[in-house]
Amino acid sequence: MSNRLIQIRSNLPVVQDHSRQFADFTFVYPVISRRSRGLSIGINLNPDKVCNFDCVYCEVDRTVPGKVSRLDLNQMRDELKAMIHFVRDGGLAREPKFDELPPFITRNVKDIAFSGDGEPTLIHNFAECVQAVADVKHLESLAKTRIVLITDAAGLDKADVRRGLEIMDGHNGEVWGKLDAGTETYFELVNRTTVRFDRILNNLTEAARVRPIVIQSLFLKIRGEGMPPGELNAYCDRLNEIVRDGGRIKEVHAYTVARPTPEPFAVKLSAEELNALTEIIRQRTGLAVFAFD
Ligand code: SF4
Repeated sequence: MSNRLIQIRSNLPVVQDHSRQFADFTFVYPVISRRSRGLSIGINLNPDKVCNFDCVYCEVDRTVPGKVSRLDLNQMRDELKAMIHFVRDGGLAREPKFDELPPFITRNVKDIAFSGDGEPTLIHNFAECVQAVADVKHLESLAKTRIVLITDAAGLDKADVRRGLEIMDGHNGEVWGKLDAGTETYFELVNRTTVRFDRILNNLTEAARVRPIVIQSLFLKIRGEGMPPGELNAYCDRLNEIVRDGGRIKEVHAYTVARPTPEPFAVKLSAEELNALTEIIRQRTGLAVFAFD
């Protein structure tokens, strides 16, 4: 990472309470994201809050139903255009909290990210959603802006999702695939899903064979215990296996819990703990690993 990027990252407070400032938007929201290294426009493809994982650290409150139950593609497109104009015209830079940041951050859309309240690839028309974003990006001359898919990787093998990834590939796309474990047992403990760990690993490997991907890994303490050393070894082995099998890993994003989780036994690592773990991953894999505490 260049010094320039470190400088930008160190100046970024977390601005994520977008719901108050942008109450009229249903599917689109702005976030200053350290992992995006600037302004990210998020697209929530899961207003119904549906996910095939139930991570112990998930912050989505599923006891309260979402505002709407399904995505309206036309509305999403309109909201995205409006948000881009709002950013460009300097409107976002005048919003509370965003106004504390330099304009080169708040007026520059680093990425448009499929993220939100669930798993984006669960939507039935993922490829159509990607195409809609690619069309807006083209219309607004945002060639440098990435389209990011933040995913638990369970659906990367679906035909429609693969089509969506191909569209992303042609429009500065990037896949950020979740990998929080090295073994099936720890995977079940942290991600609490019926999806098999093998499927996640295969999907990450296959996706990474076609284009370089980012691995995003959340590390935390569960009932006072960080990731055990054997598990961390296994996690590094899984990364090395993806590379051995022809996958390209652009970066690993190691991060931790940002806010208190609904599960009181799942808590964040300290910056020192996360940095120490990041160094071990770097040494055992040789990959570019970045910590975001
Ligand atoms: S994959 Fe994401 S949305 Fe789904 S449970 Fe985990 S953290 Fe929550």
